[in-house]
Amino acid sequence: MSIISKDINKAITLLKANKLVAIPTETVYGLAGNIFSEDAIRAIFQTKGRPHFNPLIVHIGSTEDLEAIVSYVPEKAKRLAEAFWPGPLTLVLPKKDLIPDLITSGKSTVAVRIPNHPLTLELLNKLDFPLAAPSANPFNRISPTTAEHVEGYFKDDIELVLDGGPCKKGIESTIIGFEDDEPIIYRLGSTSIESIESVIGHIKIKNKNNELPSAPGMLDRHYAPITKTILTANIKNAIKNYSGLKIGLLVFNEYLDDDVSFKIVLSNTGNDLDEAAAKLYDALHTLDKEDLDIIIAERLPDYGIGKSINDRLERATK
Ligand code: AMP
Ligand code: MG
Repeated sequence: MSIISKDINKAITLLKANKLVAIPTETVYGLAGNIFSEDAIRAIFQTKGRPHFNPLIVHIGSTEDLEAIVSYVPEKAKRLAEAFWPGPLTLVLPKKDLIPDLITSGKSTVAVRIPNHPLTLELLNKLDFPLAAPSANPFNRISPTTAEHVEGYFKDDIELVLDGGPCKKGIESTIIGFEDDEPIIYRLGSTSIESIESVIGHIKIKNKNNELPSAPGMLDRHYAPITKTILTANIKNAIKNYSGLKIGLLVFNEYLDDDVSFKIVLSNTGNDLDEAAAKLYDALHTLDKEDLDIIIAERLPDYGIGKSINDRLERATK
């Protein structure tokens, strides 16, 4: 029997019993549990196979809930929260003592956001505890953007995937931390740098592992298909280099070539980066099931959400 259901009351019952439920968000599906339950949090790490040094994002239902979990909010964090919540922006802020070390991997800061999905907002506002919810995929695998992706991964491990349809944004949240009150992007994501800078001015980016002792989760290889995958700006050359192999192509716009076995176009309407982001992970899931020798992915334009898509493709091809 399928574990996919729209039954929000069942989700509430399970979460109150400190069980895990996969929840829809606008970014990707999350594997959610009560942040105050040690059993639930341990189960999240165990189910995902996620190393304990990789802290979890806490999801809250309204800005009033923020006060209970963080001890200090810099001015620019307030402006960002006002501009982008609910939405795909995570803020890393000094934590209050009641936030368990298990959530933050022992760090003195906690990552927090308000997701923008009606069903999950309703769920959060009906619970009297926040939810820790990392992406609902095994560690290092492709993130899930449909309830079916989650079911494929975890049907034997959890009782319920709350079905909220396909994720509208399709890429994880942008993560921003603060060093001496100055904002720094730790992870590129569904909120573009350009839109962030329109609110708070210039922002630095520190999203490479070697410059990032503060965000241990930003591993170089991540979001990866099992099939060998490469990223290139020159599709034509790459196809030539791998001729004779069973090639799967992932391209931004329509591309005509006879020598590929399988092709997915990310923007059918042409040059739409939002459309490409929403389709990215489903495309990788599909390509990975096609029994290909190699996936050749095209580098997208390097601005707006294109930058975040390229970041994911780089980590998928490491
Ligand atoms: P995921 O839950 O899979 O979207 O990954 C959560 C990301 O948030 C990881 O890359 C973590 O490194 C990052 N993160 C969570 N908490 C913190 C924190 N306190 N400081 C820095 N990064 C964090
Ligand atoms: Mg993840």
